Amino acid sequence: MTAATVAVLVELRDGAVTRPTYEAMTLARSLGTPVAVVLADDFDPAEGARLGTYGAAEVRIVAGDVRLPSRAAAALKQAVGDAAVVLMVSTFVNKEIAARLAVATGAGVVVDAAGAEMIDGRVETTQTVFAATWNVRTRIESERAIVAIRPNTTMAEPAEVPGVAAESVVTVDLPAARESVVSVEPVPAPEGVPLAEAPVVVSGGRGTNGDYTLVRRMAEVLGGAVGASRDATDEGWISHEHMVGQTGTTVTPALYLACGISGAVHHRGGMQASGTIVAVNIDPDAPIFEISDFGVVGDLGDVLPQAIARIEERRRAR
Ligand SMILES: Cc1cc2nc3c(=O)[nH]c(=O)nc-3n(C[C@H](O)[C@H](O)[C@H](O)COP(=O)(O)OP(=O)(O)OC[C@H]3O[C@@H](n4cnc5c(N)ncnc54)[C@H](O)[C@@H]3O)c2cc1C
Repeated sequence: MTAATVAVLVELRDGAVTRPTYEAMTLARSLGTPVAVVLADDFDPAEGARLGTYGAAEVRIVAGDVRLPSRAAAALKQAVGDAAVVLMVSTFVNKEIAARLAVATGAGVVVDAAGAEMIDGRVETTQTVFAATWNVRTRIESERAIVAIRPNTTMAEPAEVPGVAAESVVTVDLPAARESVVSVEPVPAPEGVPLAEAPVVVSGGRGTNGDYTLVRRMAEVLGGAVGASRDATDEGWISHEHMVGQTGTTVTPALYLACGISGAVHHRGGMQASGTIVAVNIDPDAPIFEISDFGVVGDLGDVLPQAIARIEERRRAR
């Protein structure tokens, strides 16, 4: 039986392919033969070659103004050809594209998936729902499966046998625009690594008492992003883009470090699916410890400087 074609929608940031795309490419290899689809007028061939090292047999470049999800979905419908699986990173925009593409092609769709497998010719996904209190396994019964996969749920690894990454430009017929994008300007990104994609998130809550110096330092040492509880952002100690939880960003990093956060259900809903959860709290009965893999009962003003010093010491010893 020939392997299914798995079209992977490529995410670009400043012209470079993002790490979550390589995670999706890695997952795509376990489902079939990956084909990368790039929606961009200008694509660096070196980036295409790198997609090949992650197994892309082909890189299809779709030029044209596809900034609106409706047009991106119309372009993808044509560019993915007969791919049995369409995989993309679970971002807000991609979730809309996935839904539109599913309606347009009659495909089954799962967004915010944490994993996907090919079983008896059908894709099965896993995901957590209801504030990460339930694990759900879904089998997509349609001929085509569309899956939006959360960042940090697959380890990005180059292929043992690289793909050919043959580049081609796909010309698509786009429907007449019902809306048009007048301008696109980046909002200044919050400091450091983007929260939703970060492999490590160090969050501070009310226990910081408004001083984020140690939380930021720890995030810097671990190469992670800075998160916060809603109470901390409501206090104006840190901007709302850093909020993790039900009304903030949902994160699934490999390591989540909660500093001075009680672990209210609204906060847990946005971080409970993280790989390893570590908490620092002065209260041994804080609910955050119920979901922590590793807990330190202590003042973050004592614990974090010692942890930072030990991490730096070990790095120097290497
Ligand atoms: C509809 C709704 C939606 C919400 N959405 C969100 C959301 O998206 N995200 C979110 O975070 N919250 C959300 N909340 C708020 C949530 O219910 C909690 O109020 C909030 O998460 C508590 O923040 P906290 O843990 O920082 O503060 P607290 O609950 O006050 O906890 C502070 C913790 O710090 C510890 N501490 C104090 N001093 C120190 C120290 N020196 N060292 C170490 N530990 C210390 C304390 O023991 C305590 O456990 C929402 C609430 C509602 C009603």
